[in-house]
Amino acid sequence: QKMVYLFGGGSAEGNAKMKELLGGKGANLAEMAGIGLPVPPGFTITTEVCTHVMKFGSYPEGLKEQVAQGLAHIERLTGKKFGDAQNPLLVSVRSGARASMPGMMDTILNLGLNDQTVQGLIAQTGNPRFAYDCYRRFVAMYGDVVLGCKPQGKDEIDPFEAVLEEVKHKKGVRYDTELTAEDLKELVVRFKEVVLKRTGKTFPESPEEQLWGAIAAVFNSWNNERAIAYRKLNNIPDDWGTAVNVQAMVYGNMGEDSGTGVAFTRDPATGENVFYGEFLVNAQGEDVVAGVRTPRPVKELAQVFPEVYQQLLEVRRTLETHLKDMQDFEFTVERGKLYMLQTRNGKRTGLAAIRIAVDMVEEGLITPEEALKRVEPEQLNQLLRPIFDPQALRQAREEKRVVAKGLPAGPGAASGRVVFNAPDAEEWAARGEKVLLVRIETSPEDIKGMNAAVGILTARGGMTSHAALVARQMGKTCVVGCEALKVDYKARTVTVDSTVIREGDWVSIDGFTGEVILGKLETRPSEVVQVLIEKSLAPEKSSSYHYFSRLMEWADKVRRLRVRANADQPDQAANAVAFGAEGIGLCRTEHMFFGGDRITAMREMILASTPEERQKALDKLLPMQREDFVGIFRVMGERPVTIRTLDPPLHEFLPHTEAEQREVAEAMGVPVEAIRAKVAELHEANPMLGHRGCRLGIVYPEITRMQARAILEAACQVKKEGIDVHPEIMIPLVGNVRELTDQARHVREVAEQVFAEQGVRVDYLVGTMIEVPRAALTAGEIAREAEFFSFGTNDLTQTTLGVSRDDAGKFLPVYLEREIWPADPFATLDVEGVGRLVEMGTQRGRATRANLKVGICGEHGGDPASVAFCHRVGLDYVSCSPFRIPVARLAAARAAL
Ligand code: ADP
Ligand code: MG
Ligand code: MG
Repeated sequence: QKMVYLFGGGSAEGNAKMKELLGGKGANLAEMAGIGLPVPPGFTITTEVCTHVMKFGSYPEGLKEQVAQGLAHIERLTGKKFGDAQNPLLVSVRSGARASMPGMMDTILNLGLNDQTVQGLIAQTGNPRFAYDCYRRFVAMYGDVVLGCKPQGKDEIDPFEAVLEEVKHKKGVRYDTELTAEDLKELVVRFKEVVLKRTGKTFPESPEEQLWGAIAAVFNSWNNERAIAYRKLNNIPDDWGTAVNVQAMVYGNMGEDSGTGVAFTRDPATGENVFYGEFLVNAQGEDVVAGVRTPRPVKELAQVFPEVYQQLLEVRRTLETHLKDMQDFEFTVERGKLYMLQTRNGKRTGLAAIRIAVDMVEEGLITPEEALKRVEPEQLNQLLRPIFDPQALRQAREEKRVVAKGLPAGPGAASGRVVFNAPDAEEWAARGEKVLLVRIETSPEDIKGMNAAVGILTARGGMTSHAALVARQMGKTCVVGCEALKVDYKARTVTVDSTVIREGDWVSIDGFTGEVILGKLETRPSEVVQVLIEKSLAPEKSSSYHYFSRLMEWADKVRRLRVRANADQPDQAANAVAFGAEGIGLCRTEHMFFGGDRITAMREMILASTPEERQKALDKLLPMQREDFVGIFRVMGERPVTIRTLDPPLHEFLPHTEAEQREVAEAMGVPVEAIRAKVAELHEANPMLGHRGCRLGIVYPEITRMQARAILEAACQVKKEGIDVHPEIMIPLVGNVRELTDQARHVREVAEQVFAEQGVRVDYLVGTMIEVPRAALTAGEIAREAEFFSFGTNDLTQTTLGVSRDDAGKFLPVYLEREIWPADPFATLDVEGVGRLVEMGTQRGRATRANLKVGICGEHGGDPASVAFCHRVGLDYVSCSPFRIPVARLAAARAAL
């Protein structure tokens, strides 16, 4: 069995399509080597070996031999020898999973160094400083990754870093580059002491042992805590495994004619089609990403290494035409010669993803379908995200509250209270605080805390630093490389000049400009929202609107699912239409009963002791309801509008505190005892399963009749205004067809009365929500009566799982943590359980009534994975909140591709 794939010397055994087997990094290294880009030679150990190791705890037969052949291949192409004291070959050992996991897996550079080979390296290069620089980096990396010498407390820094800082301090220098060969040599000795002290073992001298130690560490790192956390966050299966790449070292730290960098073929923050990146002279590998020094823009390479710069521009073109996506690549310059070390599809903000996808269609690189696949529905949120209110921002600037400026790494506007480490961020956020995570720099250990924060601010690092990369992916507002900040983890303060910011203080960051602002700032809507909702910005004035609308246009062409909105009021309905809603999937009528006169009339209705009294109160409610519906119908025009009859238990409308009860009694002119008695009478042990939904209308048919009348009178009125309205009256919580028969009879009787009175007819439907399992099970019978179904997946999830959403907080986190549930079933549809009922209900319903309209109106209607499911099982539409509509349109399109 082939376990090792070679690359380098102008050819490769693998290619970009082999990501499953070679991992993303290995496959793309092979691809680049294959198309003639300058890649240092190496080999890739397959992901299958990782899977084998995880399963059996040992290497597969024959691996040693194949690795030895791989090394021989590198030796042949470089003319160096691994472990040789005169002309040593050094290698990097790099992990690379199928999907790129930035910083998750650990890489070791300069492997093969020991006290003999370092002499060889000096002899080869005539540069002792360089050789000891490599050596100390190697010992620190190996000590950290393979031998587990990590920081221990949350305030402690890396043990090697601590020694380095101490030596730098002793020598009175600021940067690593100012240390001499002797200093670096001392570091090697002291680093090895750290290893001995921490592990009780001496540092391994044998290159062979080092290599296998590193290979094992890469495989094991697949299961380290932060890799697991990242996979969970990004839904990457645990059983994919990682590949290991062993590659000849090239040296960016050989002096002023060398360097290393990271570049993007387009701007990853805005998506603009410009070459974008950063480099450091005389530096190795991680230095750029780790934010050790703040790097220089890649454009400056044009002055420093003009030839290399021209070559890079060429590489940029080659990579994009070849791989047809924006690339994020690593390069190193060794004594003026360019080497490519990695390329992958670049992480980007939602903004950039949309712009790049649309631009690439317009440039003829990809098709509109491909563009739709490139944009995650959630990324659209970034075009809908708030910005600071310009007024407030201007004022903050005038008041000199802008205390610093960093690099704008993740767009958006965020205000939060300052915390200094990830565990605190998580803890504060869990108790409902908005937090801004402030770090010198972030590392993969901080992922969960970054996720919990509203924004991230770092003192060091560039646009390609860890913080920037992760924040962009999460869609977080982020400012990095803000060097004016002096962060003190122990004291929990940030100092800028004379200003001291303490833990818990409010700070705002602008992810468009990089500004750091004291205090809390008001935010305001994005451009797309200004164009579509507020109509305060002309569409042609906004480029983000241009990209948004192109993408939506393509999405609407390919999707089959219709998208409706959950909206209860005319203004919400108008927003929904602006975002592209094709109807209302759920209009809840109970919200109309709150506020002002309405709640009083509602309470009179509830307190009534005879049907006559009740009718009197309902007569007061009727015109108010009718007005609401008139407003909604006018906004929605000919689009269908599904209106649900009263659903919540009546006690929700009554006052519950002593004081409120007294006040209400007084206002209504009834004794407070009457109210108290009614509250007691209506009290339920399990309101979720109590007297609600159609059960109300069955006991009090006059409520359903009043609502039907209000809806249909409004419909007739608007129809007379010339709009062909399409109301759909929906009866909630039906579990038995006889419930629906009863309620539908009332609706249809009232309809005939209204049409006769008004002298006009409207097309209307009567249907039901499917939200208890019995309804799904007996959908065939229910469809005899129902002209449409709408799956109320919030309640259907509660009733199917037997879980009350309000009480789930105590165990839900544990269930998610232990993966008993793959995702929060109230956010993403439980496809295996609830989904099966949805599918069955749809099939049975349509078996009875072939043209049955079927939709979904729970929270799930705006969740991309749930939308995809709805597409698969053949629903007619999804319905979600107005601001989720663009997300749902795109998700529906992607499901159809
Ligand atoms: P990550 O997945 O964290 O980016 P990499 O394997 O890409 O890890 O390596 C970390 C850093 O080391 C990168 O900057 C990379 O360019 C550099 N690097 C890796 N292999 C070599 C090599 N053979 N020669 C020089 N630099 C290398
Ligand atoms: Mg890399
Ligand atoms: Mg419900």
